[in-house]
Amino acid sequence: MFIDSHCHLNYKGLVEQEREVLARARANGVQGMLNISTRESEWDAVIGLAEREPAVWASVGIHPHEADQHGDMTSAKLVEKARHPDVIGIGETGLDYFYNYSDREQQQACFRQHIVAARESGLPIIVHTRDAEEDTARIMREEMEQGAYSGVIHCFTASADFARIALDLGLYISLSGIVTFKNAKDLQEIAQTIPDDRLLIETDSPFLAPVPHRGRTCEPAFVSDTARFLAELKNIEIESVAAQTTSNFFRLFSKAA
Ligand SMILES: [Zn+2]
Ligand SMILES: [Zn+2]
Repeated sequence: MFIDSHCHLNYKGLVEQEREVLARARANGVQGMLNISTRESEWDAVIGLAEREPAVWASVGIHPHEADQHGDMTSAKLVEKARHPDVIGIGETGLDYFYNYSDREQQQACFRQHIVAARESGLPIIVHTRDAEEDTARIMREEMEQGAYSGVIHCFTASADFARIALDLGLYISLSGIVTFKNAKDLQEIAQTIPDDRLLIETDSPFLAPVPHRGRTCEPAFVSDTARFLAELKNIEIESVAAQTTSNFFRLFSKAA
């Protein structure tokens, strides 16, 4: 049994074939999916799907790309929405200095609101970070000093140093299909150093289809291909990758358990 810890089922490419996507996931052993929101206007749709589907959960959050459009986002608003029984995480949030679609200071302010919401709700944050390791680490550290919170670095592509910082803060690391790419040697090395009890897997679908599906629309069913790759990389059985990442998921996202 696999859990896809991060997917966007309401995005174009997946939303049009929702039934088939969920059926293929289940047929492939994917028994749980965390459907991630990226802007306030999609919260109700993301939560609505979780209400209809038993093993689909929801998150509420604002993607760093969308921070400029949500200048009024507060931790109180996030906490209020997170009271819903199907909302199990806060995010995705974080910093993206690769695209810089939103002002950096606005991204940082929005990120901090999410951490406050995570602390207050007791739910983990789902962190997106790209080309922004230094500021992401600094904010996570500063906020941890204000009071403990839990979370995961999703679609991890950062450095070994950043992985160490996140792990030392008690956070989890989630690997997407990127780890299966031929040119991802550095990431594959880091993957082998992540403690077994801190590792999650995800698709980030509809993006980033793993080998052997590259170029196709990614979907939650493909999380098993990333698990298979990791099993080969770590020289263990795929069943242990499945069991370990599933129990890690429920330990972190304990509201789903
Ligand atoms: Zn992301
Ligand atoms: Zn995402």
